Amino acid sequence: MNKRTFLKVFSAALTSRMISPLLASSDSKLKNWAGNLEYGTEKQYSANSMKDIQEFVRTHDNLKALGTRHCFNTIADTTSEFLSLKAMERVVELDPDARTVTIESGMTYGQLCPYLDSRGWALHNLASLPHISVAGACSTATHGSGEKNGNLSTAVSAIEMVNAASEVIKLSRSRDGEMFRSAVVGLGALGVITKVTLDIQPRFMMKQYVYESLPLSELREHFDAIESTAYSVSLFTDWQEKRINEVWLKIRVPDESKFGAPAEFFGAKRATRNLHPIVALSAENCTEQMGVPGPWYERLPHFRMGFTPSAGKELQSEYFVPRQNAIEAILAVERLGDKVGPHLLISEIRTIAADDLWMSPCYKQASVAIHFTWKQDWPAVKALLPVIEKELGPFQVRPHWGKLFTISAADLHARYQRLPEFVETCKRYDPHGKFRNEFLDRNIFGNKMGSA
Ligand SMILES: Cc1cc2nc3c(=O)[nH]c(=O)nc-3n(C[C@H](O)[C@H](O)[C@H](O)COP(=O)(O)OP(=O)(O)OC[C@H]3O[C@@H](n4cnc5c(N)ncnc54)[C@H](O)[C@@H]3O)c2cc1C
Repeated sequence: MNKRTFLKVFSAALTSRMISPLLASSDSKLKNWAGNLEYGTEKQYSANSMKDIQEFVRTHDNLKALGTRHCFNTIADTTSEFLSLKAMERVVELDPDARTVTIESGMTYGQLCPYLDSRGWALHNLASLPHISVAGACSTATHGSGEKNGNLSTAVSAIEMVNAASEVIKLSRSRDGEMFRSAVVGLGALGVITKVTLDIQPRFMMKQYVYESLPLSELREHFDAIESTAYSVSLFTDWQEKRINEVWLKIRVPDESKFGAPAEFFGAKRATRNLHPIVALSAENCTEQMGVPGPWYERLPHFRMGFTPSAGKELQSEYFVPRQNAIEAILAVERLGDKVGPHLLISEIRTIAADDLWMSPCYKQASVAIHFTWKQDWPAVKALLPVIEKELGPFQVRPHWGKLFTISAADLHARYQRLPEFVETCKRYDPHGKFRNEFLDRNIFGNKMGSA
């Protein structure tokens, strides 16, 4: 199907600091980070200023803003032209009184976090990796873990974007209410985000402990106690042998210093060395564990900046269910262990607080996210996803917008209650579909089956 072919090899994208076509050689196609998706065009322009962005938007009928290309599905794809904001990566303003930082939207968390920390500030949470752009992450409701922590988009207090008419639109949490809440998780459909303002808090220290082999029976009996032990809790499992392979506890100190890191934690054993979530892989890529104190931004992600996160050659899917259904949902997937096992690298289970952002999978719903890192065999994974989605169907499961799923548009519309109003927001800022692509047409504006 034209150029959107799922591939098995990785090739880095080209970038430039000029607003000029970026040349790609014929053996170096533009692909997403995992290399599973060859984008529908190699035409990519890199903007250096607001003027560049407005001019590009004004002179094109169809385009997609591209972040750091970490989505696994076609949400960022286009057959027209990409606009990269990679060169726009400055901090615009750090406001200690308002406790906010405003950045240009090409900036990654890996760039922002050391800057904030060096000035005494922190973000409330991070995803498993710092390599992703803030604008791209917030556009898909990217999240970390922690039952009291909202996803990363909940830290957004204002956005600036260029709409389809090339006008500069500013929306803020305090001033624009529901319109702001409709736009933050914007799925790239409203315009080109040019600046993001995030809530900050005083910097803090953390320790990370990993426990191995938590019996599933203990998780079933003590899920709430386990999840409330630390600021952020991640459970890694391969769904085999009725156990959670690894429990990652990210402890905020001194707030949670009462946690004494016992040798045994609900039947799991404290690890005696740093571990990778996929135990067979080297932990060199991972953030420091073993209770060694460190700054928030070097403990909240699992993977270190400067190293390949996760496994690299992989696919990912992730499903959100209401927190109160956590155990039933986990057991439903565990029953599929024989089917899932051969195609899986690892699964991760995380908790996320409820929020009020219209297109967030955690909208008005404290959630548990069940994540799958798959071997890069799309035909096998594509056949398996409907099986998992059927098992999780009774929990009104919502998919991660940036990962692979096959839930129908009709089910998405039924499960995202604000989706019809979101469509109106899209039409307000982009009446003629300048920022639309096949993914948005199918899942948001249409009513047909499929997603990837
Ligand atoms: C190894 C790995 C680990 C991951 N871990 C996590 C995790 O822990 N938690 C989690 O929730 N997700 C995780 N993800 C998924 C990832 O966070 C999301 O896919 C995120 O959206 C990626 O951001 P990006 O900048 O790469 O976005 P892209 O893929 O480049 O774009 C995503 C969307 O954002 C839009 N967009 C980007 N920039 C702009 C802009 N300036 N203006 C308007 N729209 C824009 C694009 O048009 C597109 O619609 C992981 C992905 C990988 C590859």
